[in-house]
Amino acid sequence: MNTIKLHDKYFKNFISKDEIDIAIKSVALQIHKDIKGEIPLFIAILNGSFMYAADLLRHYPGQCEISFVKLSSYEGTNSSGSIKSLIGLNGEVKDKTVIILEDIVDTGNTLQEIFNLFEDKNVKQLKIATLFLKPDVYKKKLPIDYIAISIPDKFIVGYGLDYDDLGRNLSDVYQLTTLNMKNIVLFGPPGAGKGTQAEFLKNIFNLIHISTGDVFRQNIQNQTKLGKLAKSYMDAGNLVPDEVTIDMLKAEVEKNSTAKGFIFDGFPRTESQAKALDLFLNEKGETINGMIALEVEEDILVTRLLERGKISGRPDDQDEEKIRNRFNEYHTKTAILKEYYAAQGKYFGVNGVGSIEEITERLKVVFNQL
Ligand code: AMP
Repeated sequence: MNTIKLHDKYFKNFISKDEIDIAIKSVALQIHKDIKGEIPLFIAILNGSFMYAADLLRHYPGQCEISFVKLSSYEGTNSSGSIKSLIGLNGEVKDKTVIILEDIVDTGNTLQEIFNLFEDKNVKQLKIATLFLKPDVYKKKLPIDYIAISIPDKFIVGYGLDYDDLGRNLSDVYQLTTLNMKNIVLFGPPGAGKGTQAEFLKNIFNLIHISTGDVFRQNIQNQTKLGKLAKSYMDAGNLVPDEVTIDMLKAEVEKNSTAKGFIFDGFPRTESQAKALDLFLNEKGETINGMIALEVEEDILVTRLLERGKISGRPDDQDEEKIRNRFNEYHTKTAILKEYYAAQGKYFGVNGVGSIEEITERLKVVFNQL
């Protein structure tokens, strides 16, 4: 399972490129067989059918012509019902065997428009070959000669089809999905206040707070195998190896299978952790809604950590050299995650300087948007 985000919506895998290819090939061969030696003029309806047209023609075993017409009936995810003809038909179609390549037929309004366009053109024959048909919503009586794949009434993207212009370049087809969870990565350098803020936010938003640092410290306290393994890395201010941390994180998530979502605090800290988290959530049909980063200058952080060390007793908070090493780990391995999430449109920076309440308020604003 792979969940993707386009604009504000999430889509999950629906039909693979291999399934599509098999269906298109069979339509191409059937058309060739049916028209018995005629040279067809394929007319692809832009924009959605560009990939379909290209692949169908590659599979077409005889000679053929191709032309393009542009119509549009979709704005957003609801069929608007009104069809606008954008680029009309040019070139001679009289006496030709015309095969319309349409990416998807749902209500049939676009198809009606196509039939209207060809009414007075004196074509020899007009056939319709659609890649997708939604039989449950198709209201017209117009004949559809070839249907590669019938689908239920779902909003789909990919393989030429878009959601507000995005998604056409995906090789597979995805369907609109609603996520059940809100998963937030609370991000920032050591001492930025992630743990403090997560404690407030988890109650406000009814989420489970997972702090990998806290889980490691509990394991050290309980002298578990994991704790013994993590201790030497943590005491020196180094990161615990990825495999260990990733397995532990997954186990923490699985423990809370009915959660409404998670606040991940201190995880991911490396790119491979971020990728593992994406994969893990995608398998559940979920995703990271956003990374919210607490932005604080380093000098302020060192002072904060040394102060905290006096109370917390954490060995890695008490020695400036260890603190510097944690920053070094942060800068070399963790800070790049800003780019990782920004590339997916999921990075949100929040000013982490101010009173605890002020910062919670700032975070709440972003949480509510995600
Ligand atoms: P924290 O409480 O988040 O500051 O984490 C304390 C220490 O736990 C870090 O310096 C690391 O040694 C270890 N640790 C916590 N989270 C991770 C992680 N995601 N990857 C590797 N090591 C981690």
